[in-house]
Amino acid sequence: MDILVINCGSSSLKYQLLNMDNETFLARGLCERIGIDGRLKHERGTEEFVLDAPMPDHAAAIKIVLEALLSKEHGVISSLSEITAVGHRVVHGGEFFSDSVLIDDAVEKAIEACFDMAPLHNPPNLIGIHACQQNLPGVPQVAVFDTAFHQTMPKKAYLYAISHALYETHKIRRYGFHGTSHKYVSMKAAEELGRPYNEMKIITCHLGNGASVCAVDRGHSVDTSMGFTPIEGLIMGTRTGDIDVAIVTYLMEKENLSAQQVLDLFNKKSGMLGLSGVSSDFRDIFQARQDGNAYADDALEAYYYRVASYIGRYAAAMNGVDVIVFTAGLGENSALLREKVCDYLGYLGVKVNPEKNAQRGKSMDFSADGARVRTMMIPTNEELVIARDTKAIISR
Ligand code: AMP
Repeated sequence: MDILVINCGSSSLKYQLLNMDNETFLARGLCERIGIDGRLKHERGTEEFVLDAPMPDHAAAIKIVLEALLSKEHGVISSLSEITAVGHRVVHGGEFFSDSVLIDDAVEKAIEACFDMAPLHNPPNLIGIHACQQNLPGVPQVAVFDTAFHQTMPKKAYLYAISHALYETHKIRRYGFHGTSHKYVSMKAAEELGRPYNEMKIITCHLGNGASVCAVDRGHSVDTSMGFTPIEGLIMGTRTGDIDVAIVTYLMEKENLSAQQVLDLFNKKSGMLGLSGVSSDFRDIFQARQDGNAYADDALEAYYYRVASYIGRYAAAMNGVDVIVFTAGLGENSALLREKVCDYLGYLGVKVNPEKNAQRGKSMDFSADGARVRTMMIPTNEELVIARDTKAIISR
């Protein structure tokens, strides 16, 4: 059973084709500059090819992806009928979806109803769904939401302290994101430790360009650091994370900015980029700190501190923690980051084995002997979760 996974951005489209009989990856790629000119980067195994082709819209991009998958030279299927279903990453499911769903008209309407809450993500996600319906008529399409895993959060964790009327009218509450990643790595941690998922207290740290921490209590997300939108919580590549909202009006007045301009500033020019003045990419910031840049040092120290503070908070929320998992670009690749965050956590019973922590690539438990709380690095695989959910739904 081959399942195509689609992740649509405003001018890009990521895809992956997986054989779900044995959970192997067949091909993947990225369409960029959709609506501008168009470029496809397609990978099959270790081979990669790049094709410049006009992509006036997402439907045209999907057509080119399907041609690449069918191509004699670079393809992996001989007929479109080999694609059993398509799984779509959809960022915001609001309070409508606590699980993945088969897409029909009502689901499309609900995705549309969340446009205002995720204006950069949900509209292209829906465009991607329509493009696949157009190019693969009759093939079942499934939506997998970034927010769904967190719908188990209790009220005390998701309510903001605003009037109940504002929550009811505008659905202003905490939703959380990166749900597929938190779900995948928390399940994988339990599996690798050989312990029952529904008996464990797990804290997952998805630390990439966007970043969030999640408290997974016996298989359920009970709190997470992102909120109504992905700006809340940790310091990120370009986002502030938690910030006093009064700074918005203060800056509007002092810098003569509109509300939208302040929000853009907080989303796109803040975080590690703003603090370090160097880059949003940690590799550049580590280098700058080595070169003696004091702002880079401040930025990194603030980053570690914020992550460790959230871990402490979630250990308290769950009245304990069995395992802390690091994942995504930075969490997977930076031993230094893991070590620095764990340095704060000795009181919980965290102890790191530096040699194990220095390893790269595959999942690992890098705890020292005698550690009361395990620490693990697990590469995330959001596409696999999307494909698994898609398979489960169409097999019902
Ligand atoms: P993601 O959003 O998960 O793709 O993560 C992207 C981020 O991971 C980049 O912006 C980098 O800051 C970080 N990253 C990736 N590779 C490394 C590495 N080898 N060392 C440190 N940070 C890295």
